[in-house]
Amino acid sequence: MAIPRQRIALIAHDGCKEQLINWVTEHRDILASHDLIATGTTGDQVEEVLKAPVRKLLSGPKGGDQQIGALIAEEQVDVLIFFWDPMAAQPHDPDVKALLRIGVLYDIAMASNQTTANLLVTGLLTKPELVDKE
Ligand code: PGA
Repeated sequence: MAIPRQRIALIAHDGCKEQLINWVTEHRDILASHDLIATGTTGDQVEEVLKAPVRKLLSGPKGGDQQIGALIAEEQVDVLIFFWDPMAAQPHDPDVKALLRIGVLYDIAMASNQTTANLLVTGLLTKPELVDKE
């Protein structure tokens, strides 16, 4: 069965960017067959490492998390990989909370750490119907 193209949003707080870039590099083959969206700085780094286009929004603290939340509410995001930093306070903490809330509300596939992100990508490969709402 062909894997339906998914719209995957990527966000990493500064303390987790290296981890996300390593993850993206590890899964570059599967990510290449999906549409990537990201907050500004994360998107720049992902684009650089994958050499593939990423739809880049504003930087997270400047409203990028809210933009991704709005896209989720408009049903334009299927998967959210959001490596938020459990060890650092963020100036845009209310936006982070709002984004996590909206992701749960719209029942999209979400991962906030590497292990869950690995399982999610494996799920996309083997059971795409689990994340496909069509
Ligand atoms: P950034 O935003 O990708 O622009 O760094 C991420 C965030 O802090 O939410």
